[in-house]
Amino acid sequence: MSALGSDECPLRVAIVGSGPSGFYAAESLYKAEIPLRLDMFDRLPTPFGLVRGGVAPDHPKIKTVTKIYDRIAAHEGFQFFGNVFIGRDIAVGGFDDVPLAEHIHPGLTTIHQPIHEAGQRVTQIILRKISGQSVEDCTALITPELIIRASSGPRRS
Ligand SMILES: Cc1cc2nc3c(=O)[nH]c(=O)nc-3n(C[C@H](O)[C@H](O)[C@H](O)COP(=O)(O)OP(=O)(O)OC[C@H]3O[C@@H](n4cnc5c(N)ncnc54)[C@H](O)[C@@H]3O)c2cc1C
Repeated sequence: MSALGSDECPLRVAIVGSGPSGFYAAESLYKAEIPLRLDMFDRLPTPFGLVRGGVAPDHPKIKTVTKIYDRIAAHEGFQFFGNVFIGRDIAVGGFDDVPLAEHIHPGLTTIHQPIHEAGQRVTQIILRKISGQSVEDCTALITPELIIRASSGPRRS
């Protein structure tokens, strides 16, 4: 099997949002020179986010920054998909339930791992070993929790 990030098996990355942040994230990935297929999604039909819709027409010089984004988009394997709303048209799920997951919009559906409980269990096992007790079963089953937020679409009843 080919390694991920090789010519035979390019890394596939999705970027949500085609404003400056999205394009600079894409640029960083291309600079890493890993074979890559990059899909960029935006809820608007056109790219460039607030550079197109926020920066006023009487600031034409600022708007020329999109020439940089055009060059980034010209990379082989780059695709832009407009009119795609994450949380409505595409579901996105995360892992680890970082604090930001709750506060971004749409909120990120994610797996919450009971890291504290896992740490406790491991510590108990280590302490038992240190004190010379036998630790026959080192397996600890820990149940992760699925936290459903808007990034995976409306709740089904
Ligand atoms: C009125 C106004 C005037 C400005 N004037 C200037 C200026 O003169 N000079 C200057 O340097 N800066 C200016 N700015 C600031 C500049 O526009 C922002 O700093 C820059 O656009 C931020 O880039 P961004 O990629 O983080 O966000 P954005 O440009 O907002 O891009 C985010 C993109 O993500 C998309 N998106 C969000 N949620 C979803 C979703 N759920 N699914 C799919 N797509 C999604 C949005 O449609 C958007 O296209 C101005 C901003 C405003 C509002």
